[in-house]
Amino acid sequence: MHSDSETIQRLAAAIAGVHSGPPPEDVLPSEQSLSHARQKLHQHLPASGLGLEETIRHLQEDLVPGFNGNSRSPNYYGFVTGGSTTAAALADNLVTAYDQNVQVHLPNETVATNVEDAALSLLAELLKLDPVQWPHRIFTTGATASNIVGLAVGREYILAEASAHRSDATNSVGEMGIVEAMHRSGIDKIQILTTVPHSSLYKAAGILGLGRNSVKSVGRADAPHKFDIPQLRKLLEPPGAASIVAISASEVNTGLFATSGLEEMQQIRKLCDMYGAWIHVDGAFGILGRVLTSPTHSSIISACDGLELADSITGDGHKLLNVPYDCGFFFSRHRELASRVFQNPNAAYLSSGPATDTIMSPLNIGLENSRRFRALPVYASLTAYGRDGYRDMLERQIELSRGVAQFILDHDGYELLHQSDASKEEILDGIFIIVLFRAKDEDINSSLVATIKATRKFYVSGTSWEGRPGCRFAVSNWQTDAKRDLPIIKEVLNEIVKK
Ligand SMILES: *Cc1c(COP(=O)(O)O)cnc(C)c1O
Repeated sequence: MHSDSETIQRLAAAIAGVHSGPPPEDVLPSEQSLSHARQKLHQHLPASGLGLEETIRHLQEDLVPGFNGNSRSPNYYGFVTGGSTTAAALADNLVTAYDQNVQVHLPNETVATNVEDAALSLLAELLKLDPVQWPHRIFTTGATASNIVGLAVGREYILAEASAHRSDATNSVGEMGIVEAMHRSGIDKIQILTTVPHSSLYKAAGILGLGRNSVKSVGRADAPHKFDIPQLRKLLEPPGAASIVAISASEVNTGLFATSGLEEMQQIRKLCDMYGAWIHVDGAFGILGRVLTSPTHSSIISACDGLELADSITGDGHKLLNVPYDCGFFFSRHRELASRVFQNPNAAYLSSGPATDTIMSPLNIGLENSRRFRALPVYASLTAYGRDGYRDMLERQIELSRGVAQFILDHDGYELLHQSDASKEEILDGIFIIVLFRAKDEDINSSLVATIKATRKFYVSGTSWEGRPGCRFAVSNWQTDAKRDLPIIKEVLNEIVKK
């Protein structure tokens, strides 16, 4: 039996090995590994513990082979999972080792809240958002949590706006509850107007008492991801309605952006100002498009232009930012609303004392009280790679997506699934990190996702397009290398239709 410190040293070496070793060859665990892991799972609490030594052996030998390669393998193109940069992965181990609780700003006791605020400020810079203009900012567990935060502050704002002309008294949902606040503002309907929303927006609406039914699509008939502006105006107008406009800045199924440039955003902003509506951007992965600068990405660059006119923005750390799970982020321009919604009142033991800076205690501006130090991996990764490093990562991912799209476009056996009858060039220009395609042969297509997965060379997820199955290829790993990966993908796809 080794001492604890020896065991911990061996564990640290093993973790370092995971970080420095080659990515797994297989994107999926074998059936044997899965069933072995399930069989070996302890289903009952041992009365006396098994000890560190045996537990570590159990984790490494029994369970780890049953994990999939979603973060570690660059060839995992399912969902938009993201990987973990080396800097972020190493910092994440420090987070665990030091176990800081980033909930109260205690500047004389820990620098943790300063690190979180600095990380969010660097992140704002990366996304071309002026940190001063976005004072309510916080890390969350993911884009779902950020969407809940966004709709919550939006709800607070629109009801306060609706009652501002009736009374000087602050009308706060956080204080009075939604029924009383609606009553005071003469509002009988709250609606979330959007196009191609992510499922989590419905979830957020459900949780917040707005109801999943309050989410309404205002998409154009010819391009459902784009706003039908006349229709949007018509829905914003009625005096008894209060609205949040939610913009999908890259939709998770197709990668398409709801707006295509500054002018469109200005138009939406103007309408929202006129009717007291809040603009929330769900930019879970699309917001990273703001790091791009090359003319080859001009259509994505302009789709991201104007997003700074929003009131609040959701982003994901564990997707394109490539930090470990779980990490999302949230930015809002409205500092005062943050504590009106999220204040954790009357907990004398959690007071921060007088702070001489502007950092607000995270527990008063977000969902959680106790919180993981998920800012540190973000801080480490942004510091290690900088603006240029992040641009390079994203450019490589777009290069691979476009390479796959080009291959599909040129191939007799496959077709690319897209929304318009644009030219090849325009189609490729619009590709961000997601490519939807299918095999032309119905028989091959019906099992295409399974056939690709069975090769174990790369992973795609299934989707449906116009009522028929389709393949969804989503790139989100910093290790992506089109020169290495594209030939593998082409070979697999060629083989499948040759048979
Ligand atoms: C992934 C995603 C979400 C949900 O994010 P989680 O991090 O899984 O909570 C929300 N919106 C969009 C557009 C997404 O792509």
